[in-house]
Amino acid sequence: MENIKKAFHAKCEADSKGSKHISVVTTAEIWEKLKPMYDLLFTKVYEIETVLDEDPGSTCAKGECHIQDVPPDTEMPITESLISEFLRQVPGKGKVSPMLSSVIPDVFYHGFSTRSGGLSQFPSLSSLNLNFNPNRRDPRVVVQENRSRLAAACGFDVEKLHIAKAEHGARVWVVGKHPPAAYDAIVTNIPGVTIAAPGADCTPMLFADPVNQAVGAAHSGWRGTLAGVAAETLRAMAENFGTVPSDVLVALGPSIGPCCFEVGEDVAEKFAAVQPACVVREEGKEKPRVDLRKVTRLLLEQAGVKPGNIDDGTLGTEATVTLCTVCEPEQRFFSYRRDGVQYGTQVGFIGIKTGE
Ligand SMILES: [Zn+2]
Ligand SMILES: [Zn+2]
Repeated sequence: MENIKKAFHAKCEADSKGSKHISVVTTAEIWEKLKPMYDLLFTKVYEIETVLDEDPGSTCAKGECHIQDVPPDTEMPITESLISEFLRQVPGKGKVSPMLSSVIPDVFYHGFSTRSGGLSQFPSLSSLNLNFNPNRRDPRVVVQENRSRLAAACGFDVEKLHIAKAEHGARVWVVGKHPPAAYDAIVTNIPGVTIAAPGADCTPMLFADPVNQAVGAAHSGWRGTLAGVAAETLRAMAENFGTVPSDVLVALGPSIGPCCFEVGEDVAEKFAAVQPACVVREEGKEKPRVDLRKVTRLLLEQAGVKPGNIDDGTLGTEATVTLCTVCEPEQRFFSYRRDGVQYGTQVGFIGIKTGE
């Protein structure tokens, strides 16, 4: 464990400083055994420099870096499960504290994750980043541990968690069937299977049909919204589980609000063609803004969902899950628009209780 601990601490230090450079002073023989561990703990964002020297006291070539002295009594081999075991003991930042929508009935479990409770260190990924991308600083093992913590806190089986991709299309995967190459929505009627939609400005949407006991989760950014991912999710639920849209409850999770979603004229025109009122123009502001929630509500209602069954922050309930990812105080959510390339990802998740 000592080597994992050292490497992880070097990563944490680099992440908190915003540095990419990690220097490992070691021998060729030990490095050969350590390299697989570095490949698992670091992504391609980092520059790992090895200073191969039989004398571990020698300095590395670059000035500002993290020296990794490796003691000769190295435990071998370092497997992925050993790294996971180590990560399980790392304290999280804050508590996992998902938000609940008031419209989703009790026969389902669900939630929208916030940034709190994970172990990602880099400021814009901190701390409950739930998606892996090789261009970001969180390796798969860290994302997997974050997912495990969400699952443990919310009482579902992480092995049965499926998160939709973020392709900005409208394809739907029915759990149990062969998955399409790209899909932004998932539907299921299998109790205990948790389906989730990612978001970092795009809207994670949850669908619940209490009559036929079926659920859906969709990732809906502006492209997916226009491509009709919400209606496609309802269609897949109807086709596979006999869902009638007027029975369905829908919750729109944290997403970029009309307060912050500035777009170019080309995008504004596309939305105006669907619903002129969803394009907001303010005097003195150069760029128009789009109200994705308003247009999503319209599309859901056109697909047959009852107006009162859509939780989009306008129902007048005390707490809402439809908050703005960009400007919510204390940066409670991850936001691609605010944070850029190293953005983290939150999810909306839902499942059918097993009755155990
Ligand atoms: Zn997206
Ligand atoms: Zn905002």
